[in-house]
Amino acid sequence: MKIALVTGASRGIGRATAILLAEQGYAVGVNYLSNEMAARAVVNDITVNGGRAIALQADIADEAQVVAMFRRINDELGPITALVNNAGILFQQTTIENLSAERINKVLSTNVTGYFLCCREAVKIMSHRHGGKGGAIVNVSSAASRLGAPGEYVDYAASKGAVDTLTTGLALEVAACGIRVNCVRPGLIYTEMHASGGEPGRVDRVKASLPMQRGGQPEEVAQAICWLLSDSASYVTGSFLELAGGK
Ligand code: NAD
Repeated sequence: MKIALVTGASRGIGRATAILLAEQGYAVGVNYLSNEMAARAVVNDITVNGGRAIALQADIADEAQVVAMFRRINDELGPITALVNNAGILFQQTTIENLSAERINKVLSTNVTGYFLCCREAVKIMSHRHGGKGGAIVNVSSAASRLGAPGEYVDYAASKGAVDTLTTGLALEVAACGIRVNCVRPGLIYTEMHASGGEPGRVDRVKASLPMQRGGQPEEVAQAICWLLSDSASYVTGSFLELAGGK
C-alpha cells in the first residue's frame, strides 16, 4: 500500500502533487493550515475519482500539531511510504534593511523547522531501524537557494538553502534505513505564491530572463516530485532536480 502525506496541499504545487499521487494509486493525506474548504475540495477531487484521501489540519511549524497529524494519518490510512515537504511561505519583496526579526523567524519556522519536524516524524515511521518498510521524501526547495533572491527575499532564499542542506544530510543519514531523500528546486511557477510576492511587472521580467521564456505550471512540478517518489527513481537519493525553465 502506497501512502503519502503532502504538506500545504490545499492549493498550488501541493494540490497538484496530491492529485497526481492519488492518480498513481497512493492514499493521500492532504495537509492544510487554515483553508479547510479548499483541502476538502482536494479530497473530494480524489475520492470522486475512486482514490483515497483525508484532510489533515496542522501548522507544520508547531511540533505538537505535526506529531498529532502524523499520528492521525497513521491511524486512518496506515504507515506513510512517501512525504512531500511542500508547505512554505514567502513575504513581500524587500531589501535587508527592512527585514524584521519577526518576519525572519516566521519564514524560518515554517520553511525550515516545519520541514525538519515532518522529516523527523516520517523517518520514525519509514525507517528499517524502527521496523518500517522504507520510503521516500521529497523536499520542495526553490531556485532562490542557488540564486539568492538579492533585494527581494534573502530570508526566503536562505530558508531554502537550509532545505537543500537538510536534503543532503538526511539523505546520507537514512540511506541505510531504506529511505530516499531528494529535492526539487522550482523557479517561477504559476501559483498564488508567485502572484503575491512581487512588485508589478516582476513576473514578466523574470519570465524574460528564463531560457525557456515561460514560467512553469504546478502540474509540471508535481510530475517531477512523483517521479522522485516512485520506484523508477529507486537508486536516486540526495539529488536536486531543477525546475526553473533552464536557469
Ligand atoms: P502556495 O502559497 O500556493 O502554497 C503554499 C501552501 O503552504 C499554502 O496552501 C499554505 O497555506 C501552506 N502553508 C503555509 N504555511 C504553512 C504552515 N505553517 N503549515 C501548513 N501549511 C502551510 O505556494 P506554492 O507555489 O504552491 O508553493 C509550494 C512550495 O513551492 C513552497 O515551499 C514554495 O516555497 C515552493 N516554491 C514555489 C515557487 C513558485 O514560483 N510558486 C517557486 C519556488 C519554490
